[in-house]
Amino acid sequence: MPSSKTKIAIVGGGVAGLVTARHMVAKLDIYSITLFEQTDQIGGTWIYTDKTDFDKHGLLIHSSMYKNLRTNIPKEIMALPDFPFQNVDGPSFTHHSMIREYLMAYAKHFNLHPYIKLNTLVKRVEPETTRNGRTLWTVTYKSLETKEEITKTFDAVVLCNGHYSVGRVPHIPGIESFHGRRIHSHQYRMPEIYAGKRVCILGASWSGIDIALEVSQYANKVYLSHNLPEQFDSKMSSNVEQRPGVESVLGNVFTFRDGSSAEVDDFIYCTGYKFTYPFMSTKVEIRTNDDHVEPLYKYLVHMDYTNLFFMGLPTLVIPFPMMHIQAQYILAILEGRVKLPSSQQMREEYEIEKKSLLDQGILLRHINKLKERQWGYYDELAAAANVPSVAPVNRKIMEHVFHMRDVDFTTYKNYQYRIIDSENFSMSYCKPC
Ligand SMILES: Cc1cc2nc3c(=O)[nH]c(=O)nc-3n(C[C@H](O)[C@H](O)[C@H](O)COP(=O)(O)OP(=O)(O)OC[C@H]3O[C@@H](n4cnc5c(N)ncnc54)[C@H](O)[C@@H]3O)c2cc1C
Repeated sequence: MPSSKTKIAIVGGGVAGLVTARHMVAKLDIYSITLFEQTDQIGGTWIYTDKTDFDKHGLLIHSSMYKNLRTNIPKEIMALPDFPFQNVDGPSFTHHSMIREYLMAYAKHFNLHPYIKLNTLVKRVEPETTRNGRTLWTVTYKSLETKEEITKTFDAVVLCNGHYSVGRVPHIPGIESFHGRRIHSHQYRMPEIYAGKRVCILGASWSGIDIALEVSQYANKVYLSHNLPEQFDSKMSSNVEQRPGVESVLGNVFTFRDGSSAEVDDFIYCTGYKFTYPFMSTKVEIRTNDDHVEPLYKYLVHMDYTNLFFMGLPTLVIPFPMMHIQAQYILAILEGRVKLPSSQQMREEYEIEKKSLLDQGILLRHINKLKERQWGYYDELAAAANVPSVAPVNRKIMEHVFHMRDVDFTTYKNYQYRIIDSENFSMSYCKPC
């Protein structure tokens, strides 16, 4: 007899996929779940590898983790609300290996492994309209071990394939004539290889700054090239020089937008990432230009297919707790506890919100960056799904972190945060050892 359970396909076994599975596994009387993960481990971008190009199956390396990375959010608020970090002592901005261990423990604690297919690549996701007008999804996946390809039908698909794997690389006139090492931050692993070199880093967002801080400890010279109004010379070591964006390249000579030039041995693009859904049918409209995804309702639900979900898209947020709320909102939709507006209404609502943001001077490519808007976003989704939102103390800590980073990005990770109750926290400064 066919099962009456709602069949869910989850694409990707990073935190987004694990969190989605965790909430569905708690309701196995309603859901039948399959989580597909192309690599041989869960954890997504938190699985560090020295490799930078292809994995053992010939797929592009997914993880962008670098060897020394410490989190940029204190573990006290980064944690999923139903699974605090076991190691309550120790630094707040923890080494990435601890997050990997944490995610492994999370999957074990909530018994997710029986529902996870490792080494399984989702190759195609296709909508199929039934006679009664419902959309089902045919998902074609391939076992990377046996090479077998299988197609199965699901009632809903949750996309958790991550969006920090495919680097955005702007074209720079003459870059082909540069014969030095040229990588995207996705391929950056460790600073030692830049010892004695003259390195140009393009982009001064979170990873550009972080990588410049590391590389400058070894390099002879670092040119941090960016078009931001901020100047942070006083905070960087004396071998870091800021320059505007790169205008052109001729051999190893980089010319910057102010007409100045410099000789460069190594080049690192810290120019962000692209949203990609290579497995998705062309029947499904997905626009990914301008650094955000459309047409989505609440950055999460496809406006034409309300059983197709995109987890974890907003940035400048606290990703794990956000996904915890998003997953529960998805369940509320699937169970009919949240009634979505019509496709037309969702589009109208979105266009009004978008216009209001543009009118406030927010660029289209920054719409996805919620920062101050994240709190309202969590509260709205949580209220609709009738689940707790992020506690006020988490907001206070995150705002404190943003502030301390603005004050000095070289020292903000030396603070330790401890949560006292849902409103209060304590903080202390620990000298780096
Ligand atoms: C360098 C770096 C530092 C970061 N630092 C922090 C931090 O300090 N704190 C923080 O909270 N967040 C941080 N983030 C953000 C981080 O990406 C999110 O916290 C979160 O881990 C994203 O999880 P995800 O599940 O959405 O994606 P991912 O972790 O990228 O997981 C996606 C998974 O999908 C799989 N997959 C993709 N395509 C397919 C397919 N076709 N078939 C099957 N499987 C597929 C991939 O193999 C991968 O396992 C950082 C990100 C980066 C890149």
